[in-house]
Amino acid sequence: MQFQIECNSLEFNQLCLICNQQLRMRDARLIVSSDRGDSYGDVCYNCMVRGSTWLNSQLQKLDNRSSVLT
Ligand SMILES: [Zn+2]
Repeated sequence: MQFQIECNSLEFNQLCLICNQQLRMRDARLIVSSDRGDSYGDVCYNCMVRGSTWLNSQLQKLDNRSSVLT
C-alpha cells in the first residue's frame, strides 16, 4: 500500500475511499494505491489525520471486501 500526496487539480467532487464522505477540496489530496501502482482512490482529510496505521487497517478491510466480490 502506498500513499501519495498531490496538489489538488480536480474540479469535480470525489468521495473518500474509506468513509465515503465527499472530499473537501483543499490544497492537497492523498491518493492511495497498491504496491503495483493501481490507484484505489482518494482519502479525505479527516481520515488522513488518523495516521497511516489506521488507514492501512481500514484499507485492509476494503481489500477483503473486494476479494469477496471477485
Ligand atoms: Zn474519509
